Amino acid sequence: VTEPVHSYVLAGAAARGDHPALIDATDGTTLGYARLDHLSRRLAAGLAAAGLAKGDVLALHSPNSVLFPVVCYAAWRCGAAVTTVHPLATAEEFAGQLADSGARRIVTVAALLDTARDAARRAGHVVEILVCDRADGHRSLLDLADTTAPEPDIALDPATDLAVLPYSSGTTGSPKGVMLTHRSVATNLAQLDAFLTGGPDDRVLAVLPFFHMYGLTALMNAPLRTGATVVVLPRFDLERFLDTIQRYRITAVYAAPPMVLALAKHPLVDRYDLSSLKYLVCAAAPLDAHLADACARRLGLDSLLQAYGMTELSPASHLVPPGADAPPGTVGRLLPGTEMRLVSLATGEDLPPGEDGEIVLRGPQVMKGYLGRPEATDAMIDADGWLHTGDIGRMDTDGWLYVVDRVKELIKYKGYQVAPADLEALLLTHDDIADAAVIGVTDTDGNEIPKAYVVRRPGAALRADDVLTYVAGRVAPYKRVRRVEFTDTVPRAVTGKILRRELRARERSSTAR
Ligand code: ATP
Ligand code: MG
Repeated sequence: VTEPVHSYVLAGAAARGDHPALIDATDGTTLGYARLDHLSRRLAAGLAAAGLAKGDVLALHSPNSVLFPVVCYAAWRCGAAVTTVHPLATAEEFAGQLADSGARRIVTVAALLDTARDAARRAGHVVEILVCDRADGHRSLLDLADTTAPEPDIALDPATDLAVLPYSSGTTGSPKGVMLTHRSVATNLAQLDAFLTGGPDDRVLAVLPFFHMYGLTALMNAPLRTGATVVVLPRFDLERFLDTIQRYRITAVYAAPPMVLALAKHPLVDRYDLSSLKYLVCAAAPLDAHLADACARRLGLDSLLQAYGMTELSPASHLVPPGADAPPGTVGRLLPGTEMRLVSLATGEDLPPGEDGEIVLRGPQVMKGYLGRPEATDAMIDADGWLHTGDIGRMDTDGWLYVVDRVKELIKYKGYQVAPADLEALLLTHDDIADAAVIGVTDTDGNEIPKAYVVRRPGAALRADDVLTYVAGRVAPYKRVRRVEFTDTVPRAVTGKILRRELRARERSSTAR
């Protein structure tokens, strides 16, 4: 794709007239396609008149809303990149992102204004804070769009100019700015199109956040390009989620593993009519095949479609195409235009199908690099353009990929490698276990052993011994869980990734005592 993202996504928008592009499920606010196109052009004019120029970075700090895409398309029309900020970021984290990205303008919402002000004060170089809704002392976006200024006419080079500068989730290290060009973001949309076709009759539920690349691509750009209606929810709450599917006759849901867990296990699910659903895609973290199957059956779907990717891939490389006869547990097939190798961790050699190795990828959706971090970039992308994902996977002879776990999370028990994701999946098959996470901890002899943090189902009288015995009866001896701690919740990121560093910190503070 050689067009900028906004032209690619909005090509058909004006002609779609009043057909709803976005609906806010909390208050019913609806934005039609022609209005989306018009508003993004007027806001671009307003932002350009206020000084936003080609090469600038705009920080977008907002939960999901109908205006979120309007801000993105307007910034892109000005030639600026958008750095998306986690709505729950602390002022300190936000200030760090402002400093690192060089963003001088912030778009926020009234409810988050205090944090944005605090972050701007700490960063020191911010020139303006704009607010989507109205708030005292700040210009609102709608005022800004109410201008007679001309629409900016910027020539972009999609191959080099940045569209999005998301910060990687920080699950494994400190967050880094991921430079994604217009070409990589637009091309990933075209690649996904080859597998997943949608149209104006689709109604997509956007509950995963737009600020993460998974949401920005799958829930914002992809459906808006095909004329679908995006129904927006600002946060995940099971009842609200189910009610929204029923009320808006949602056809497609993009989920993360905790939502699949809730859909498979929670008693509330049976009280709703979810028959409008045509497909459910799950990505972002390991998902057990049994759980996926239980969820699909409960929702009356043939199967659940997994996808695989990362921020550095704009974000996707693999997807299970609807209707394909995919084996259980696979995260999908390689998208067109992408190449993959599986590389042995021990020898660095390419592995044949059936063996576990690091997933290494090359394609037009690979990031340009980490902003201002040449060493980190070189550690990730080699001289031939291959991205070393840090994830372990296996491919079968038909080309289906299975993700095992992250290289860094593997537990080395007496020389054997144990994947926490496998043990977590097994623990979740126990009826009395509502949620679980596994990390490697050091025992008194200095060995690394798997420890499980387990959330009991309410009312269950599960004991640690029951958990140990359950696992021991189902895995090879070296894979056994060797320690159990009960907990109220498993710490997770919004995308459902287990925050193992928090569990490790908890472990350190308890052994220090
Ligand atoms: P950071 O890189 O900052 O530590 P992160 O890797 O969690 O954070 P993301 O880019 O959001 O940030 O997540 C990508 C990672 O999510 C992948 O590298 C992989 O480990 C995991 N992942 C994504 N999809 C799947 C999937 N279908 N199955 C298993 N794991 C997945
Ligand atoms: Mg990562």
